[in-house]
Amino acid sequence: MNVLVINCGSSSLKFQLINSESEEVLAKGLCERIGIDGRLTYQPAGGDKAVSEKAMPTHTEAIQFVIDALTDAETGVVKSLDEIGAVGHRVVHGGEKFASSVVITEDVLKAIEECNDLAPLHNPANLIGINACQKLMPNTPMVAVFDTAFHQTMPEKAYLYGLPYEYYEKYGVRRYGFHGTSHSFVSKHAAEFLGLDLDNSKIIVAHLGNGASISAVLNGKCVDTSMGLTPLEGLVMGTRSGDMDPAIMEYLAKKEDLDMAGVMNVLNKKSGVFGLSKGLSSDFRDLTAAMNDGNPYANAAIEVFCYRVAKYIGSYSAAMNGVDAIAFTAGIGENVAIVRQKVCECLEYLGVSLDQEANKLFGDDRLISTADSKVKVAVIPTNEELAIARETVALV
Ligand code: ADP
Repeated sequence: MNVLVINCGSSSLKFQLINSESEEVLAKGLCERIGIDGRLTYQPAGGDKAVSEKAMPTHTEAIQFVIDALTDAETGVVKSLDEIGAVGHRVVHGGEKFASSVVITEDVLKAIEECNDLAPLHNPANLIGINACQKLMPNTPMVAVFDTAFHQTMPEKAYLYGLPYEYYEKYGVRRYGFHGTSHSFVSKHAAEFLGLDLDNSKIIVAHLGNGASISAVLNGKCVDTSMGLTPLEGLVMGTRSGDMDPAIMEYLAKKEDLDMAGVMNVLNKKSGVFGLSKGLSSDFRDLTAAMNDGNPYANAAIEVFCYRVAKYIGSYSAAMNGVDAIAFTAGIGENVAIVRQKVCECLEYLGVSLDQEANKLFGDDRLISTADSKVKVAVIPTNEELAIARETVALV
């Protein structure tokens, strides 16, 4: 079956068409500037990437262009919509309502809408994408795959904050966690790759991308994760602060004369390694180059980033009373050897022994710890689209 995977944002929409038997990506692309003007990037497997300007006043036109591109007589990869068996939609927040992926029905749409408050920037956009798809493909089954679902197995002691209990009851204030599709995919894949029995394993997944989070996966189930009610908590990220003393918000508001929205803007968009490097960059390619040139702010940014990752790994090995394997994934986890090295240097007490040469190599799944390392360390490239396609096929 061919599965169309859709990741819909407020003004952009990423897509991949995946053959579920071969797990091959038949075509992929991106619609951008929806509601502004509109640009479609489309690339069939083995073919050239084509970029075209197209008027996309709403997501419906954007999805129509995606369908047109996929079924185009020359550059398309299927003859008609009949060859698309299902659509898998990434949905950011499933609250406590969804602990797994679901086939989309009217009731499911209502329940997703009820989670809008928890992810006001993302869920409404995800719903718009689903509605537009349903309009154009009314007979194709659709599945919602939630970023939060994998983390729903966390115990109460991990998801409750030290706040009045009624805020949890009345407003759902608790840890939800994000990147769940990636944490689920990578933890399963790491167990397989390392020859561990998933049902009897302690795995820590470090998803280090522009957004970054860590999870503790005990016997295949998430027991803790670093992102919280929103994706702002936890690690130092590209532009997000991650954990800090909450009183800093009031202090900064006074000093910089900011309202709450202004403070949130600083914490979400101007902080992280971008802010620490004095606005040099949020991209680790720029930061490592600057660090190697002796830039002290880039150096500080990378040190703070790695130290925070190492501290989380330490705390999650406590959460699971041990750790069998650590899996690095996403843009930074897969590509930046110096980050993995600095993190592992703090973990020698756990029995982590990094293979310095293996750590410098690039490639697919790879072991980067030495043969006698007590804790196995691996790089496991994530593939959220494939994970969504697999979940979708399993449900339809
Ligand atoms: P997201 O999905 O959150 O945008 P990604 O997982 O794509 O994040 O990671 C993006 C980040 O990964 C970039 O900002 C950059 O810091 C880092 N990155 C990606 N590729 C490389 C590379 N080849 N070398 C160094 N850093 C990289």
